[in-house]
Amino acid sequence: MSSRPLANSELGWLAYDPAPESASLARLAPSYGLFINGTFTDPGAHEQVPTLNPATEATLATVAHAVDEDVDRAVRAARHAYDTVWSVTSGAERAKYLFRIARLIQERSRELAVVETLDNGKPIRESRDVDIPLAAAHFFYYAGWADKLDHAGYGANPRPLGVAGQIIPWNFPLLMAAWKLAPALAAGNTCVLKPAETTPLSALILAEILQQAELPPGVVNIVTGDGATGAALVEHPGVDKIAFTGSTEVGRAIQARLAGRGTHLTLELGGKGANIVFDDAPIDEMIEGIIDGIFFNQGHVCCAGSRLLVQETVADEVLRRLERRVEQLRVGDPLDKNTDVGAINSRAQLTRIEELVAAGESEGATRYSSSCALPEQGYWFAPTVFTDVSQTHRIAREEIFGPVLSVLTFRTPEEAVSKANNTTYGLACGVWSEKGSRTLWVAERLRAGVIWANTYNRFDPTSPFGGVRESGFGREGGRQGLAAYLDV
Ligand code: ADP
Repeated sequence: MSSRPLANSELGWLAYDPAPESASLARLAPSYGLFINGTFTDPGAHEQVPTLNPATEATLATVAHAVDEDVDRAVRAARHAYDTVWSVTSGAERAKYLFRIARLIQERSRELAVVETLDNGKPIRESRDVDIPLAAAHFFYYAGWADKLDHAGYGANPRPLGVAGQIIPWNFPLLMAAWKLAPALAAGNTCVLKPAETTPLSALILAEILQQAELPPGVVNIVTGDGATGAALVEHPGVDKIAFTGSTEVGRAIQARLAGRGTHLTLELGGKGANIVFDDAPIDEMIEGIIDGIFFNQGHVCCAGSRLLVQETVADEVLRRLERRVEQLRVGDPLDKNTDVGAINSRAQLTRIEELVAAGESEGATRYSSSCALPEQGYWFAPTVFTDVSQTHRIAREEIFGPVLSVLTFRTPEEAVSKANNTTYGLACGVWSEKGSRTLWVAERLRAGVIWANTYNRFDPTSPFGGVRESGFGREGGRQGLAAYLDV
């Protein structure tokens, strides 16, 4: 790329002073039990596993590792609550609980944002302005549906499925819990939720909120643990539905385990989203959209715009502007309100990113990484852009799930569509153009569940989200999100 622009450290008076949010707002307990039947089990009764702050590698708390018997107790509690309470609670009454949960998330939003940032490594700006408000919004939105299921387009009196087992990833811990719990509860199901092993804490604060909301015991149970805990939930014969968000590899294994069992299943898996920019797109907005598409949440986003397809006529200018903007991203303390890019969630994820970036270099792509200084403790990766990428390179085909963008060029809309669709995934794409007819022409031909026009990574509870092909099936959000929890 072009000559190096000014780095943050060279910006002089333009550099920002630190503006850290207080970690003490998190008010964490030293150890947590499981949330079963409305109460926390004694932490001492379980093997305890530490959960780390990825920005410092310090232990934040220890959490229980749920084994098969714990999962069994949680599923039984959910079944009992379904049979005796929740399935005979009217939609209007269920709505009141969901509204209460939404309000309590809002009331405790600052604490939740700090917990999420400590446990996940994402910038406080994102947890405060995106994750937590959207989690509350999902409960508000599905509260509105709870007494209107007859009018959701699934026939009169659609029935819930029963007990839902829900397994979520570490990239948006509280938001993914909300995406799973809110529609399930609105539709009349009871739940056993399994948070990811590296980010269990916000779900445990949510358990406290469920107690505050006086949700009947057993309607939601939260079992912390790793893949073995998730597998025990999948295997349990008392579960009527599994909803999974995570890697394509694990999703495939879950689908194989459930084959022939009649358990309902929805899967939201990986992606390799194409962000397509045409030469007539407004350049300032487009650059911000490219940055947001790949560096939001350190690129730990299944729908990330990780492949930039740029029209050849503007490629030089876009790359020059992009490099300048990447150089200005503030990387560091996630609790600092000015931070743009935080820590990588775990050592394992950092290793995976490093391995794929090394593959990109050895396969002949040209690497540019921000010259930002990285903290010595914790897991960090500088925002990176690869040019001279060919479609066969691993960095163009495999999900990196990190702050790494692969840039390819195209000449015609047909070529853009063919390159965008040249993937086994099909979660999300972006199209940037002033011309509506061209955007629609391209959007119609893209094989992806979500297409953004002149924006990227925009989420709203009213809008269905989900993939095709190896990105999974089923939708979360909107009216369509109810179908995942109704016998339709
Ligand atoms: P990632 O590679 O991004 O960590 P995973 O798909 O491994 O994504 O993890 C997503 C969620 O699935 C986590 O909560 C994890 O504990 C859980 N999980 C991992 N392996 C299994 C499995 N075999 N069965 C059920 N759940 C699993």
